[in-house]
Formats: sequence, structure tokens, C-alpha cells
Amino acid sequence: MFGYAKTIRLVILEFLICMAVHVGYVFYKFDVETGIKALIVSIAFAMVSILVSLIIKKPKIVVCTNVLLMILATEYLGVIAKSLAFSAFISIVITASLTIFMEMGYIIYSYVVGMLAALVNYFFFKSYIVSNSGSMFIYSVYLAIYTIASLNLCVIVKYSKNLMLKLEDKVLEAQQANESKMMFLANISHEIRTPMNAICGMTELAAREDNSPIVNEYISGIQSSGKVLLSIVNDILDYAKLESGKFEIVPVNYSLKFLLDDITNMMQIRLSDKQVTLKYTIDDNVPKFLYGDEIRFRQILFNLLSNAIKYTEQGYITIRVSGKQEGDDYRLFVSVTDSGIGIRKDDFEKIFVSFQQVDSRKYRNHEGTGLGLAICKELTILMGGSIHVESTYGVGSKFSFDILQKLAREVEVVSKESLNPKAENKLMVEGGKVLVVDDNRVNLKVAQGLLRTFGLTVDTCLGGKECVEILKDNHTYDIIFLDHMMPEMDGIDTLRVIRGSEDEYLRSVPVIALTANVMDGVREIFIAEGFDDYVSKPIDMIWMNSILRKFIPFDKQR
Ligand code: ADP
Repeated sequence: MFGYAKTIRLVILEFLICMAVHVGYVFYKFDVETGIKALIVSIAFAMVSILVSLIIKKPKIVVCTNVLLMILATEYLGVIAKSLAFSAFISIVITASLTIFMEMGYIIYSYVVGMLAALVNYFFFKSYIVSNSGSMFIYSVYLAIYTIASLNLCVIVKYSKNLMLKLEDKVLEAQQANESKMMFLANISHEIRTPMNAICGMTELAAREDNSPIVNEYISGIQSSGKVLLSIVNDILDYAKLESGKFEIVPVNYSLKFLLDDITNMMQIRLSDKQVTLKYTIDDNVPKFLYGDEIRFRQILFNLLSNAIKYTEQGYITIRVSGKQEGDDYRLFVSVTDSGIGIRKDDFEKIFVSFQQVDSRKYRNHEGTGLGLAICKELTILMGGSIHVESTYGVGSKFSFDILQKLAREVEVVSKESLNPKAENKLMVEGGKVLVVDDNRVNLKVAQGLLRTFGLTVDTCLGGKECVEILKDNHTYDIIFLDHMMPEMDGIDTLRVIRGSEDEYLRSVPVIALTANVMDGVREIFIAEGFDDYVSKPIDMIWMNSILRKFIPFDKQR
């Protein structure tokens, strides 16, 4: 139960207490001279005990020596104080106290040492025994009780140990079950993303065709449902990562105003059919540029705003940002207030628990998994803050959270921002050609369709081997998009073959990983493997746009 150091400290503490009680007893019962004698003897024994514990490194020898010293000291004091019979009782107490260490060995050694000391008394100090305990018979009864008590203690230790082992097994089982649950969630999210790529991609392509208004309406329905489904999958994945402690905070420099403008613009679109105003205010003292995990900050705000929009039919939604310096850090306080349906006081705790929705029967039409606020809560904790809610049922709610950020260096953010508008401009390519490698035909069709909208010529193939073959005598591609998970030769193996070539083109052509894996650190993994960048599936057109801007030769960009 305890480690060695703690065990020894406890043994010595017991030793000192034992001595102190005895010396106190001698001072109380006898004259000062006897008391001082007892005190000197006790100090001498205690010193030896401490020295032994410090010098000898073998736990069992230290415990046994301490037990022996304790018994000798007790018995010696017993002789002085004429309380020899007390020593058997002391031995039982010492042995009993050793049970908390849960080591049967210590109890047995302590018993053997105690018994040996008792037998030495038995044979060499008979007259003291008789004068202090009445008779040799009573002393023998003490020793018998001592033996039975020690045996009992051994049984207790064995039983408790078994129990502990069973408990440990159960804890391990629960941990394994939790891990498999997390693995399952992560895998299933990955598997769902792959067909989702096809659904989102194909609808994106279909929307670009010359459709009738009714078909466009159907397509936009599929598109918005696809987005909801994708956000649910992302929530499940985030939840799995948070639960398994695999969530990483990636700090960057960002502009607060830029973030709030961006997110409120995005949300305005969702509010277009509602009588709700959306505004934000930033306190004057809040720095313009901060350093922290912008993406996760966005995610919390996005979740709170999505809820506010979901549950508010008319009135307002306001975001307020304030903050204060805390040493080197900056604590940011953000609140999202709405004039929506509100939440009952009894439900305040519940809503932050995963998969919990309240009033679900009444608001069955509001989609969601009940994960959003649970994720927000974990994220704020991870970012050194907290989240809470105030609400009046039927009037509105206010969600407030705080996170620790640092101050950013202005220049870096400004330059990053100035790049953004360009990145969002749709790129058109003239004379550009790319190769897409994926074992899934539908995914190939989607990638081909989406990439063609940039004006690119798109060739496709179904596997790593085929890709290597094609590249042997075709050096016309500006970019190779390689799926990661493929049978036979996966994306990484294929890249190794391409890069392992002597040919200058194959060693330098940009190769971008295409993957449904969106776990943290995935970009770093692909870069470390030698990829130039990566694009996640379902393919996001803004992301693809910026990848093409980066890797298509400048003279082909329009
Ligand atoms: P969901 O995916 O259901 O939105 P959340 O964890 O984000 O899951 O929210 C949990 C529950 O909290 C919601 O189902 C809803 O009942 C309640 N809730 C959250 N935000 C609001 C809000 N702004 N107004 C009213 N109720 C809310």
C-alpha cells in the first residue's frame, strides 16, 4: 500500500511515540532519576533506529531491526518501569500496525523477532516476568494471544491483497473499455468522413450544374444536412480526443477583431430567416492581438453562437469581450447573451454533461448531439479557464467563459491577415495538371470534379503502384494528391518510392496527402513523412484553394 520510504518513516514515528508514552509513564509513576534514565535509554534506541534506517538500504532488514529495537527498548523500559507484561501487548500493536503496509513478509519477520525477544525474556528474566505479570502461565497466555493475533493479521493482509488485486483488475478493465470506446469513436468518425467526402463533394459539384430551382433547393438541403452531419462527426472526434487526453493546444498569434468579424459574418447567414440581431463589443483595454489556440477559441465561440441561434427566434444575440492582465498571461472573458428560450435552473449542471440535452421533447426539431457544451467545458479547462451559464427560463441565457492567452507580436498577425483575403479569392489555373491517387472510385470522381472547377486537368489512378508506374514516364503534373489509406501500397509507401528515385522531378514534385484522418498533429506527421502538405476529406474548397495557390507554379495562376 505504501512505498518503502513512507513505511520506514511510519515505523520510526511509531517507535518514537512508543518511547514517549513509556518515558512519560516512568516520569509519572517513578522519581525523576528513573525518568531521566528511561529518557536517555529511549533517545539512545531512537538514534540507533534512525541511523539504521538511513544507512541500510534493504527494507526488510530495516523493518526487522526497528521492530527488534522497539521491542528491546520497550522491554528494557518495562524492566525499569516494572511493566514487563506490557511488552507482549506492544509487540501485538507493532505487528498490527505493520498490516497497513500490506506486506505479509513484514508481519512474519516482526512476529519472529518479537517471539525471539519474548523467549529470551522467558528463559533469562523469569523473576521479572513473575513479578510483573503474575506468573509464567499468564506470560505464556500473552504469547499465545500474540501468535493468534499475528496469524489473524496475516489472513487479513492476504484477503485485502486479493481484494486489491481484483479491484486493480476491474480498474484496468474499465480503462481498457474506455480506451476501446475512444478508439471506436475515432475509427467510426474516420469511416464516416470517407463517404461524407463523396456526399459533400458530389453535391458541391451538382450545385455548380445548370439545375432547376427545385433541384437547387434539394441540393442545398443535402448540403446543409451534410454540414450538420460533418459537425456532429467532428464533435464526436473532439470528444473522443478530449476524453482520452489526446487534445493538444496549438497557440498562434491572432487578431481578436478579425476572429470576431469572421465568426459573426458566418453566423449572420444562419440568422437570415430570423428576426435576431447579432453584435459584438470588445472592451477598450483588450489588446488587439493575442497569442493562443485561435482554432479552439473559435470552436467554443462557434458552439455557443450556434446554440444561441438555435434557441433564439427573435430579439438579440450579443458577444462581449473583456479581459485583464495576469502576470505574463492575459485572461480573456467572453460572454454570449441571447433572448432565446432560456434554461431552467435545475438544468444548469446537466447541459455541460456529454450527450445531455434538456427540454428535448419540447425542442425535438433542434438538431444536436448534446456534446457541444461538454466540449466547450473541457476546452476552457484545457485553456486555463472555465465556463458557466446564467439564464432565466423563457427570457434568455448568458454563457460566459474565460481563457488564458498571451499578448501577441503585432507584426506577425497583421501580415497573416493581409494574406487571407487573397487566399479566399477563387483561384483559376491555366495549363495546370494534377494527379489524384485514391483507391475509392467515388472519391476520385469527387476530387476530379472539384479540382476541375479550378481549371485544372485532372488525371486519376486507383493505387500506389499504378501511380509509380504513371510517374515513370509522365513528368507533367504540377501536384500529386495521394490518399493515405490504400491497400497494398499506402500513401506513405508510395511517397517513399517516388522520393527515393534518382530523377530530379520525382524528388521535387509537390505531393499532398489526402486523408480522412483529422486528429491533432496530423499535418506534422505527414510533413515528417515527406509530404509537402495535406488536405482533409471531405475536401474543403477554401482549403484546397490555398493549397493550390501555394503549390501551382505562379505563372499558371490567374
Ligand atoms: P446540442 O448539440 O444539443 O446543442 P449542447 O451541449 O450544445 O448540445 O447543449 C446542451 C443543451 O443545452 C441543449 O440541448 C439545450 O437544451 C441547452 N442549451 C444550450 N445553449 C442554449 C441556449 N443558448 N438557450 C437555451 N438552451 C440552450
